[in-house]
Amino acid sequence: MFQGQTILRIPGPTPIPPTVEQALSRPMIGHRSGEFSKLFAETAERLKLVFQTEQDVAILAGTGTAGLEAAVANTVSPGDTVLVCTAGNFGERFIKIVKSYGGRVLVLEAPWGERIAPDAVRRELEQHPEIKVVFATHCETSTGVLHDIEGISKAVRETEALLVVDAVSSLGATDLPMDRWGVDIVVTGSQKAFMLPPGLCFLALSERAWQVVEQNDSPRFYFDLRSYRKKLAERTTPYTPAVSLIFGLAEVLNLIEQEGLQQVFTRHLLMRDMVRAAGRALGLPLFCSDEAGAPTVTSFSGNGFDVEALRKVLRTEFGIVIAGGQQHLKGQIFRIGHMGYCTPLDMLQVLAALELALLRVGAAVELGAGVRAAGQVYLNAKEALKHA
Ligand SMILES: *Cc1c(COP(=O)(O)O)cnc(C)c1O
Repeated sequence: MFQGQTILRIPGPTPIPPTVEQALSRPMIGHRSGEFSKLFAETAERLKLVFQTEQDVAILAGTGTAGLEAAVANTVSPGDTVLVCTAGNFGERFIKIVKSYGGRVLVLEAPWGERIAPDAVRRELEQHPEIKVVFATHCETSTGVLHDIEGISKAVRETEALLVVDAVSSLGATDLPMDRWGVDIVVTGSQKAFMLPPGLCFLALSERAWQVVEQNDSPRFYFDLRSYRKKLAERTTPYTPAVSLIFGLAEVLNLIEQEGLQQVFTRHLLMRDMVRAAGRALGLPLFCSDEAGAPTVTSFSGNGFDVEALRKVLRTEFGIVIAGGQQHLKGQIFRIGHMGYCTPLDMLQVLAALELALLRVGAAVELGAGVRAAGQVYLNAKEALKHA
């Protein structure tokens, strides 16, 4: 194996397309130059396509968690009651952030690997009319579950509460029509479906959300979204932007526009279906139901073999990195990331290596069964397209 050849199949950071790498290495320019101002304003405008919104999109230097914290700092004043929907590691992160801003947290919990039921959200809102903000995760990366944001949003829209969605591992790969579904704040980061290195986060806010932001009295400075909105209107940023990442982002948007957003979604659904079919053919227990399975990451339970040993074989023999479980799922599950710069062909590669690695750690699987099932899913999808 070639030293340094690493194939990332984790749910972020994800591989960077070559043209994006080139854009990232462009010579530095001044961030107050006319050249940067033009690029920045155009790029922020083009981001609206991916958010499926008419609203401005704020671009901050910071990882996804910075975006989540910005959403909290701008909507939760000390003493406010909020509802956090959680069924995994990232839902729990929202609880921690809200508590550190002095919010009173009501928790709506589902077991890891399951979805939050919109009706349960509705009941919480009926019982606690004081809830000001509802926090939910679109793709819960720790389990591979895609939550029903459309359903949750319907429940929240029956009230005056805001809905804030962590879409860090879904936006740009999975359909999330923010305006149509009535989501108030969508947060995402650069290193997942956006095919960029870590370091940027993006937030789009509804008009309703901006009104809350204006009146909120949590302490905030760097994360004060009002500054970003004001400066965006002047085609700039309040502080030094991550210039190189903005170069890269402009190229990412070229790629998404060229492929077409709907086709990007279709490609991710196909990769999901290929990986799930392969798992089934190999007798690997899927960690969540087909209905709940995310288009961007798939989790499997170990089936009598050592999950960590499996990951080690993939890494050392094939240079393929997959993710393990988080918190209590460590050693229990493994996760294959399939978002951003990856294709059905990449799925055949990771699945072929997975089969070999499963045999190497003593799992009783039939060599080729997973790849065959994934290939069949691929062929069926292409056949369906022909007749569409
Ligand atoms: C990756 C991720 C985050 C953000 O994590 P950072 O390490 O701060 O970038 C937040 N939420 C979800 C669902 C994620 O997958």
